[in-house]
Amino acid sequence: MNIVYLNGEFLPADEAKVSVFDRGFLFGDSVYEVIPFYQGVGFRLQAHLERLNHSLRAVRIKNEGNWNEILDTLVWKNGGGNLSVYLQVTRGNAGKRSHAYDDSLEPTVFACCTPIKDVWGEGAESVVPLKAIVTEDLRWHRCDIKSTCLLPNILVLQQAKDEGVQEALFSRNDKLTEGSACNLFLVKRGVLYTPKRSSEILGGITRELVLELADKHAIQFQEVDIDYEQLLSADEVWVSSSTRGVVPVVEVDGQVIGDGHPGPIWQKMFEFFAAFQRKLMRGE
Ligand code: PLP
Repeated sequence: MNIVYLNGEFLPADEAKVSVFDRGFLFGDSVYEVIPFYQGVGFRLQAHLERLNHSLRAVRIKNEGNWNEILDTLVWKNGGGNLSVYLQVTRGNAGKRSHAYDDSLEPTVFACCTPIKDVWGEGAESVVPLKAIVTEDLRWHRCDIKSTCLLPNILVLQQAKDEGVQEALFSRNDKLTEGSACNLFLVKRGVLYTPKRSSEILGGITRELVLELADKHAIQFQEVDIDYEQLLSADEVWVSSSTRGVVPVVEVDGQVIGDGHPGPIWQKMFEFFAAFQRKLMRGE
């Protein structure tokens, strides 16, 4: 059964109701996290909760949830296994529509689960490479906050779909920032490059782990500005996110990247991730 969490209760999804005056519904006045659980265990859970803290603090929504307990119980009630957990915290229900808010509002907390595949367990052969377009980054300048105001992300992904590809990469002032729901990497002559962390991108949990593993396995990396020419002339392009892992991009704006196949550094990174996860599952 699909059990969700809403404001202190675990209940079937179709019984969970939120007010029409909830500020998350009216204004997108809310933040969220998406956290993968494999075999019932949160993957980089603490890093996700720290980022949730950051988002809540940045938009001044109260942070009072016992997140570990809520998420563990929710995952258990949904049978454990491989699940992606969505957790959203809105500023709450003010009982009216007004831009200004009162600090006394109680946040609305909602969480639900969706089954996911175990990217790392299934092996690199199961990963389907992507094609992408580059579009203008029309988002605000606080992309470090994981806000539910996702209209620009939704529209560019739809544009990508209309153009027959699977991902859209954002470019702002001639610098690539990230993808519609993922961070961006490229490889040139064996060196890994990714846009540096700033308020123009989300500090991806998977991005952080890619850099950690690169460091551990002596893959050189640099956090730098990346322009369109550098992107198209890269040997490899990848995107990363919690639910998709690290995925090769083999074509951008109709131009083939490298030899048009997932590259050797990506293959290595995939294996590092898979080994990291296997160790985690064994409790090491
Ligand atoms: N950038 C954006 C805009 C995202 O929405 C996401 C994930 O949803 C990411 C990057 C990747 O972040 P993470 O690796 O924490 O999933």
